[in-house]
Amino acid sequence: MSGIDTLPPLREVIAAHGLSAKKALGQNFLLDLNLTAKIARVAGDLTGADVLEIGPGPGGLTRGLLASGARRVVAVEKDARCLPALDEIAATYPGRLQVVSGDALDLDTAALLTPPIKVVSNLPYNVGTELLVRWLTPPVWPPFWSSLTLMFQREVAERIVARPGGKAYGRLAVLAQWRADGRIALTLPAAAFTPAPKVDSAVVHLTALPEPRFPADPQVLSRVVAAAFNQRRKMLRAALKGLAPDIEDRLKTAGISPTDRAEQVPLEGFCALARALGG
Ligand code: SAM
Repeated sequence: MSGIDTLPPLREVIAAHGLSAKKALGQNFLLDLNLTAKIARVAGDLTGADVLEIGPGPGGLTRGLLASGARRVVAVEKDARCLPALDEIAATYPGRLQVVSGDALDLDTAALLTPPIKVVSNLPYNVGTELLVRWLTPPVWPPFWSSLTLMFQREVAERIVARPGGKAYGRLAVLAQWRADGRIALTLPAAAFTPAPKVDSAVVHLTALPEPRFPADPQVLSRVVAAAFNQRRKMLRAALKGLAPDIEDRLKTAGISPTDRAEQVPLEGFCALARALGG
């Protein structure tokens, strides 16, 4: 018995359903239900919330979320082999787990949930960053989610919370910190997963701000930040020259030295530059 529910231990679930991990699907499973319960706790009080989980796999985190009292969990899984195991969890928590079979990149998952909505996932590495960028750049703000509690490779987690001045600081940091508060809540050694990946992992917890930290047009800001960090070794007057013929003047208007490089510019500076470039 797991200690959190009456379902069998995850090793038994995996053996019973033949869920050998597939690398192409980013399958590194968490089999310790104490650990999945701990990750669920990072997301805070779940009792009045719907939770979106991408990639439930054999359901370790799903079980943690349900045992923590989540009002409902919508779990999107691409690997149909996992569905029978997930159905068993759904039967243990009647009416609280909806399993959606499909690719999270192709589905409008937000429509399946009722606010407040928390996203909690041990993301597949191959689509994790893509999903995060989508959640951070919706057409309207505030987004459908109130918080994101997400497992990433540790290096990606560090890029999300990075401050200016180092190699980790880039597009992900600016996008995340512009409209959310973020922190690394947990770090996990590779050995916590089955099979163990090559690198350590970390759980990032992000809460959506009601409004962006500094005003800026989202599309202009995205363009500026992409151009600046695509050529991060170049001075900004060179890296950004494709954005405006008078880029040096615009940089100065934004209070940025044209000879600075992208990683020296704080979030506020990128927002000022987006405003100087116009909507
Ligand atoms: N949540 C489980 C756990 O913590 O043990 C499994 C996590 S595993 C890192 C990632 C899961 O995402 C796998 O179950 C994989 O099949 C699933 N997955 C991979 N790509 C996906 C996609 N595009 N959409 C939905 N699920 C996906």
